[in-house]
Amino acid sequence: MTIFSKVISGELPSDKVYEDDQCIAFRDIAPQAPTHILVIPRKAISRLSEAEASDGPLLGHLLLVAARVAKSEGLHDSRLVINDGAGAGQTVFHLHVHVLGGRSLTWPPG
Ligand code: AMP
Repeated sequence: MTIFSKVISGELPSDKVYEDDQCIAFRDIAPQAPTHILVIPRKAISRLSEAEASDGPLLGHLLLVAARVAKSEGLHDSRLVINDGAGAGQTVFHLHVHVLGGRSLTWPPG
């Protein structure tokens, strides 16, 4: 059980931009770019490396939704980020795709 389970159940309010039967997308509470949205599966997968082969269609769906959300935000260019594990910056252990855009993004990320 993570904070994102409460976002999914509605126990915690969120600024939702998209939802369907498999996932929801909402604005990050501490945006790192003018557009910063999180796309999360309704299924509680703790991190990308814990996903199973049977989650493949769901993972593909998350990417398609992330691209659709970026487009609907008017972004021509965007960056999708999945932090997999604490050492990579993951703080909430419910899989999520960050959608970032609206400013120029440098590489490599910090
Ligand atoms: P990560 O560091 O990859 O685990 O990303 C977790 C993200 O969740 C961070 O960017 C946080 O700002 C964001 N976050 C945490 N709690 C909330 C919340 N209640 N609503 C929206 N975003 C949140």
